[in-house]
Amino acid sequence: MPAVRMDGKALAAKIKEQVRREVEKMERRPGLAVILVGDNPAARTYAGGKKRDCEQCGVYSEEYLLPGGTSQEELLELVSDLNEREDIDGILVQHPLPEGLNEKEVLLAIRPDKDIDCFHPFNMGRLTLGEPGFRPCTPAGVMRLLEEYGIDPAGKRCVIVGRSNIVGKPQALMMMEKNATVTVCHTKTRDLKAECRQAEILISAAGQLGLISGDMIREGAVVIDVATNRDGQGRLRGDVVEAEAEAKAAYLTPVPGGVGPMTRAMLMENTLLAARRHGK
Ligand code: NAP
Repeated sequence: MPAVRMDGKALAAKIKEQVRREVEKMERRPGLAVILVGDNPAARTYAGGKKRDCEQCGVYSEEYLLPGGTSQEELLELVSDLNEREDIDGILVQHPLPEGLNEKEVLLAIRPDKDIDCFHPFNMGRLTLGEPGFRPCTPAGVMRLLEEYGIDPAGKRCVIVGRSNIVGKPQALMMMEKNATVTVCHTKTRDLKAECRQAEILISAAGQLGLISGDMIREGAVVIDVATNRDGQGRLRGDVVEAEAEAKAAYLTPVPGGVGPMTRAMLMENTLLAARRHGK
C-alpha cells in the first residue's frame, strides 16, 4: 500500500481558521511585526506569505523592509520600539541577516514575551525544562501533524536528521516530551543509513536533496520531510526521495504541502498566545 500523504496544507488551513475565530472574539486584535533586512527574494516571499496569513486570521501586521545597509544600532532601535508597543504582540526578524549584522544580539533584544519564533534562550530554556510557553514553529508543526494523523510517539524509535537550533534540537526535545526514544543524526554520524533504518518515525531536516533514499526507510515508518531544497528544475523538494519512500513508509509528508504550511500556521498560534498573555 502506498504511504498516506500527510496533508499539512489542509491542516494548516484548519488551524488558521481556528485562530481567526479566536481573534474574532477578542476586543483588541493581536499584532505581528515582521522585519526584513536587505533584498533577499526568498525571504521576501516568506514575509509575503506571513502577511497573507495575518490577513486570513484577522491579525494586525506591520512589515519593515529595511535596506541592506541598515546598521546594527538602527535595527536594535526598531526592535526596542516594537518591544514597547502595546499593539504589537509578536516580533519576527527574518533570517539570515546580511553580513555585518549580529544575529545573536538582535535575537536577544526581542522581548521573550514577543518572541513568537521561540528563538530566544529564555524560551528555548523553557522548552528544555518542559515548561509551557512558545514552541518553535517548525517542530511544533511536525508534532501537530503527528497528532492529527493519530500517531503517538510514545515508546517509538524516532530518528531526527539535523541538529540545528531551529529544527533538529527543539524537535528532539519535543519528541522526548512525548516519550519517544530519540536519536539525533548529523554530518558526523558514522552510519546514517543504519540509524535511519531503525526509525519508526524518521524526521529529516538536513537540507540535502535526495539524502533519504528508500533503502534508508524502515517498512511502515512515518517519514516527515522538513527540508526545502530546489531540484535541477528549480522545483521545491525535500531530503526524501518521495517515489522510493512512498513504497516503504506508512505515512509521508509531501514537499511542498507538508511541514511548510504547518510552520506558518504555528506562527499564527504563537501570535495568538502572545496576545492572550498580553491581556487581549
Ligand atoms: P541547518 O542549520 O543547515 O542544519 C542542517 C542540519 O542537518 C545540521 O545539523 C547538519 O549537520 C545536518 N546535515 C546536513 N547534511 C547532512 C548529511 N549529509 N547527513 C547528516 N546530517 C546532515 O538547517 P535548518 O535551518 O535546520 O533547516 C534544515 C532544512 O529544513 C533546510 O532545508 C531548511 O530549508 C528546512 N526548513 C524548513 C522549514 C519549513 O517550514 N518547512 C523550516 C525551517 C527549515 P551538522 O550539524 O553536523 O552540520
